[in-house]
Amino acid sequence: MAHRFFSDTPITSKEIVLGESEARHLAQVMRKQSGEQVIVFDGSGVDFLATIQTVDRKTVELIVDQRLEINRELPFDMVLAVALPKGDRQTWMVQKLVELGATRLVPLVSERGVAQPTGKAIERLKRHVIEASKQCERNVLMDISPPVTIEGLGEQVPATFRRYVAHVTSKPNFGQPTPQNVAFAVGPEGGFTDNEVDFLANSGWTELHLGQRILRVETAAMSLASWWGISHCMNG
Ligand code: SAH
Repeated sequence: MAHRFFSDTPITSKEIVLGESEARHLAQVMRKQSGEQVIVFDGSGVDFLATIQTVDRKTVELIVDQRLEINRELPFDMVLAVALPKGDRQTWMVQKLVELGATRLVPLVSERGVAQPTGKAIERLKRHVIEASKQCERNVLMDISPPVTIEGLGEQVPATFRRYVAHVTSKPNFGQPTPQNVAFAVGPEGGFTDNEVDFLANSGWTELHLGQRILRVETAAMSLASWWGISHCMNG
């Protein structure tokens, strides 16, 4: 399987020029040379099979041999609105959500939240989205929205979506996942406040119970994404 590289400029002609960090990765880490074939993607849902022409420390030029439209996306939107955990757990969660096909991560600013994401932190997470996409062969990038408050979440998620808020004290009410647009809200380590859950419930979000144990934020987010994301494959 050809190695995958990301072009941060849209690929619109036969020529591709990779920017500095991908060029360094290709040349110095993967030790690729001119004449070798790799896959380049730009997040538009296409795998570009391309042959390396010139390799330089800061740029790599390639020529597209074939444009492969390969759809690896879920047949619906899946939005995870999460009060982000810290550090490595945040990175891990982003990787797993990319693998499971989430279309958008919305960082939630909540009353008991700890890690309020800065612009710089979001840029770093976007880099992890690219790395995870390369690994799982996804060619559309999971979007990361600017942080929103619980009140702002309503504007981010249309009412046509199935909407669930995970809350420790809720009663079990799972039902069956269906192949349709969905959004999940997951609270911080300290949990959502009753006011926050009431606000979402009054705006049409259904409360969800995930069992008798307290899951960490990233476990809750990943469980919900796998529950919904994998279900349509299992139903044939
Ligand atoms: N002490 C907190 C626990 C927060 S766990 C509390 O009592 O609420 C972090 C988040 O993960 C929660 O806000 C919720 O969204 C989700 N979560 C974790 N375990 C859950 C469970 N058993 N049922 C429903 N949601 C859960």
